[in-house]
Amino acid sequence: MKIGIVGSGFVGSTAAYAMALAGSASEIVLNDLRPELARAQAEDILHATPFAKPVHIAAGDYPQLKGADLVVLACGVGQRPDETRLQLLGRNAEVFKKVIPRVLETAPEAILLVASNPVDVITQIVTRISGLPFGRVIGSGTILDTARFRSLLGEYLEVASVSVHAYVLGEHGDSEVLVWSSADVGGVPVGDFAEQTGRAIDGTIKSRIDDGVRRAAYRIIAGKGSTYYGIGAGLAKIVQAVRDDERRALTVSSLTGEVEGVTDIALSMPRLIGRKGVLIELCPSLSAAEHEALGRSARILKEAAEELGY
Ligand code: ADP
Repeated sequence: MKIGIVGSGFVGSTAAYAMALAGSASEIVLNDLRPELARAQAEDILHATPFAKPVHIAAGDYPQLKGADLVVLACGVGQRPDETRLQLLGRNAEVFKKVIPRVLETAPEAILLVASNPVDVITQIVTRISGLPFGRVIGSGTILDTARFRSLLGEYLEVASVSVHAYVLGEHGDSEVLVWSSADVGGVPVGDFAEQTGRAIDGTIKSRIDDGVRRAAYRIIAGKGSTYYGIGAGLAKIVQAVRDDERRALTVSSLTGEVEGVTDIALSMPRLIGRKGVLIELCPSLSAAEHEALGRSARILKEAAEELGY
């Protein structure tokens, strides 16, 4: 499968690296506003390929995206001093207005995978600008938050995180919703699992894990400036689900008709991902408090999108 990556900064290049190591793609084209950056990233990652799976990796401009099956959008501009979040979003919207038509001109069949933040609003903007069916635009959404939730639960319960089934829904950000009510290990609700194994999950543990998930990005950014390994691996996983038509359930963002009474917003729900992108949106059963929290998250995203005129 041929993958294009627009934006070869930390996230775009780490996604390319993760894909190269995992063998997620046969060809990767790295693009950036700064061609020298894209070239350097491609050259550096190329040198990892003898230790990984064969993949053709190179830098390229838009014509080189021709035939791409999926294009990762990891481009964007950073926040200026004194700039509000909304002003930053407005400038990023302008970036996508330029990028999307060029991508679709050369790769009209591509699935668009949005990684730029704030990912939900950007996914909504990209869906609108592109005019593509909702399912062809996938936002990385809470795939990473779900991974963080599972890894922290697994660590606490001393069980492999792949055996933990738990989801984070809603906004990829402060208002995200950790769904505790249906979290399970091997079909056993986490509360029961914890009791059976003598590791109780009380309010203190829940809020510690909640903080570990919700505040992860703040802590990592405070320590090293940005986050990219987790999301890079998550993007490679989404690419594999598309390539192999896996129908894998992942919490990704996509424009949604209605969630908790809020219409036309992009946010994360569990969705089946396959060759055509988002195949099916799932509606997990939630507790009353989780419904309420998801509604709040949806309303926050609706407001942000409306302020930008989308
Ligand atoms: P992140 O940590 O999200 O990856 P970076 O700033 O490292 O953030 O990466 C964003 C990249 O997007 C930068 O390398 C920047 O040059 C690139 N970029 C910005 N605008 C465009 C554009 N219009 N086309 C391609 N790349 C772009």
